[in-house]
Amino acid sequence: GEIQHADVAVIGAGPAGAVAAALLARAGRSVLVLERQHFPRFSIGESLLPQSMAYLEEAGMLQAVVEAGFQYKNGASFVNGEKTASFDFRDKHSEGWGTTYQVERAVFDQLLIRRAAEQGAKVRFGHTVRSMQTGDAPVLEVEDEEGRVYRVASRFVLDASGFGRVLPRLLGLERPSRMPARAALFSHVQDSLPAGSIDRDKICVAVHPERRDVWYWMIHLANGRTSVGCVADAEFLDVPEAQREAKLRELMRAEPTIARLIGDAPFLMPVNRIGGYSANVERLHGPGYALLGNAGEFLDPVFSSGVTIALRSAHLATQTLLRQLDGETVDWAADYDVPLRKGIDTFRVFVERWYTGELQDIIFYENQTPKIRRMISSILAGYAWDETNPYVAEPVRRFNALHEICTMTSSA
Ligand code: FAD
Repeated sequence: GEIQHADVAVIGAGPAGAVAAALLARAGRSVLVLERQHFPRFSIGESLLPQSMAYLEEAGMLQAVVEAGFQYKNGASFVNGEKTASFDFRDKHSEGWGTTYQVERAVFDQLLIRRAAEQGAKVRFGHTVRSMQTGDAPVLEVEDEEGRVYRVASRFVLDASGFGRVLPRLLGLERPSRMPARAALFSHVQDSLPAGSIDRDKICVAVHPERRDVWYWMIHLANGRTSVGCVADAEFLDVPEAQREAKLRELMRAEPTIARLIGDAPFLMPVNRIGGYSANVERLHGPGYALLGNAGEFLDPVFSSGVTIALRSAHLATQTLLRQLDGETVDWAADYDVPLRKGIDTFRVFVERWYTGELQDIIFYENQTPKIRRMISSILAGYAWDETNPYVAEPVRRFNALHEICTMTSSA
């Protein structure tokens, strides 16, 4: 059959694929992006972290993002009944951006891939990757919507297929996630909140009144829309499709802050359920390929780290790949896998302790020193790779010590 050629083939045109494609095209490499769906398409993952701005800038996308009119974001607020805690990301330990956006991903993802195409990447929508031959000269088998099958020969393949997890499935790289099986119910509502009546500029994470391991997100978007969702053990949200809307409505009315602001706001789309999203792989690279973003490891939505990790992975993988394409010998484990997982592991410590409730003790603790608040704020802003932050350098030890202080003094 027909064979096509590119320096690099990218599977998937989400944020990881778009940024990787743009970075390679900017460096003069030929890139072919194969995307199964047609854009714009819905995706979950709407609240960005400031750390991601650096990668959008590097990929020549920042101006387009700034000018698109997305909802501005400068922090995170946490609510548990009467208790509240608010973090402003501009007040943080790490250098770099302190603000970002909350985005409708359909619009955001389309904008990113368009910027990649404008900088030279070739993009094909409605083309599904079916199989891969690994090695020094990898070959993908691709099928278009007319059922035509062709092959793409390249020097390297980047799998940015997100929850599609194309190469982990095809090559048997999947490993069980260390996270318990959780799920989310979510939708968008028309919020009708008068301008200035609330702080739209922060993601709101609310704890369920009776269960510390169940939480909600409220993410304000532009144009009077708000994204709302609830995350819990998979079985807690295991309702027949016809009852999803009633279930989410009941949950929204059970939490006072969510209830007051959007408890009765009309849903703008059918209530969706996604479960079993946590995933892991044996390694993030192999002969002729690397895994980016969600196609690699995905932990949990609680700190909105998904897109940031996806962009960080695109940045690290393309730096390594460009050196390899220039004839240098690279070590994918040392140059890509280990450094990427360093930040994922920082988030893991925070995610695990969110669900045990220990991180909640720290977040809602009233006498936190400003210095420690700035270190926590940095992680919440996505700076999970900044080793000057003690909570990055030694997350477990630092975390345990801090938790002890917060619980000792608050029970005294
Ligand atoms: P994706 O954006 O999923 O893109 C992958 C693309 O690959 C898709 O367009 C798909 O069509 C394509 N594809 C798949 N298979 C094939 C194939 N065989 N051939 C060709 N193309 C293919 N992250 C945040 O940053 N902030 C949040 O607030 C947030 N909230 C979340 C809430 C929930 C409930 C969940 C589950 C996740 C959340 N995330 C959040 C995570 C976020 O959704 C993902 O991390 C992010 O979308 C990953 O981007 P990506 O580029 O890796 O993959």
